[in-house]
Amino acid sequence: MGTRVISFYDNFKCLASNCPNTCCRGWKISIDDETVRRYNKEEGREGMRLRTTMTFGKEKEVRKFFGRCANETNDGLCRLELQGRKDLMPQVCRVYPRRSIRIGDDMEVTFELSCPMSARLFIENLDNIYLKEHEEDDIDPVWIQDMFNEKYYRDILYIRDKVIEYINSDVLLPKLLDDLYMYFRSLHNHVLSQDVDIKTLPVIVENDNDSKCSYCFYSLSIIDKVIMNDLKDGRIKFFDVLYEFSKEYNRIFGQMTAKEADYFFDEKIREMIEKYPGLHKKYKAYLSYYMYQMLFSSYESVSFYKEYLLGVVYLMIIMMTDLVDYLNGRNLQDMDRQVNNLNNCEKRLRHNVSTKKHISHRLDEEFIKENEGYKF
Ligand code: SF4
Repeated sequence: MGTRVISFYDNFKCLASNCPNTCCRGWKISIDDETVRRYNKEEGREGMRLRTTMTFGKEKEVRKFFGRCANETNDGLCRLELQGRKDLMPQVCRVYPRRSIRIGDDMEVTFELSCPMSARLFIENLDNIYLKEHEEDDIDPVWIQDMFNEKYYRDILYIRDKVIEYINSDVLLPKLLDDLYMYFRSLHNHVLSQDVDIKTLPVIVENDNDSKCSYCFYSLSIIDKVIMNDLKDGRIKFFDVLYEFSKEYNRIFGQMTAKEADYFFDEKIREMIEKYPGLHKKYKAYLSYYMYQMLFSSYESVSFYKEYLLGVVYLMIIMMTDLVDYLNGRNLQDMDRQVNNLNNCEKRLRHNVSTKKHISHRLDEEFIKENEGYKF
């Protein structure tokens, strides 16, 4: 069995009580079946206490008190870890922020950028994103892809290498987004036609019409609804990490028509990137990182096209957080701010199950149906 880990894997160190954004708050913490069994077997007072921390119903979750995990101490630490009872932590807590996926005998481990430390390591390693061999057998797989087909698996790895090679070439982001869109769309249709030999499809046929490409891959009318509606998700909004951002965004874009907003976004992103070329590198590095994760985790569902479209929404929101900072005169070389923006977007968008569902539904209704004539 071979384990591959992301290049900055060995530099990770949990911030524990110094974490501004502890992973124990703000989202659903599922308890896997094995941990439920352990809770039910645990004897004495601790056993009783643990059982009260589980929700009712078939799919168990950790109960929250004022949004905090029932096992969090007043110092923001995990009581189970402090007691040396890692075995009683749900699997997701034992492994987080590692994202580990097993296919056949291979496992890949990257990090969820919803953790501030992982987001920092990503921002510090933009030139250095790749997978490397990992000798030790010390990581549990969180996701196991049951179906294994040697040829299909090798093809996925081949496709991924080619896509990442293209991202790392000197292609500019607007054209890259369009070319990848065309590729994943064809890949989807190829698979729909029951042709599982995915390697026969040329990886990236460059569209030669790059003069039309815009940083505005989606009309801002879609992005606006994601920011102003989907991100809120009915929660008390000032607790939301992106609340300030959505207010500032609305002050800038709120009075524009969709057409004006599209034009303004493209023009100002170009201006911002010219002033801060490192941002272009960051956006491309985000896409590579996303590809490493997405092409492996969509192995079984074959939902590459839809996942790609979701990834471009996340990317455009990250670009928008930079743009709002830029238009407000903030320093875009401020590393802490960069980490914060990325981390908040990942936490609130990609790793929030209901927000992801809302965005996915919006794409079905307002993009896929429009372009393809069907919905997923
Ligand atoms: S979010 Fe990351 S740094 Fe913070 S407590 Fe969790 S694992 Fe540690």
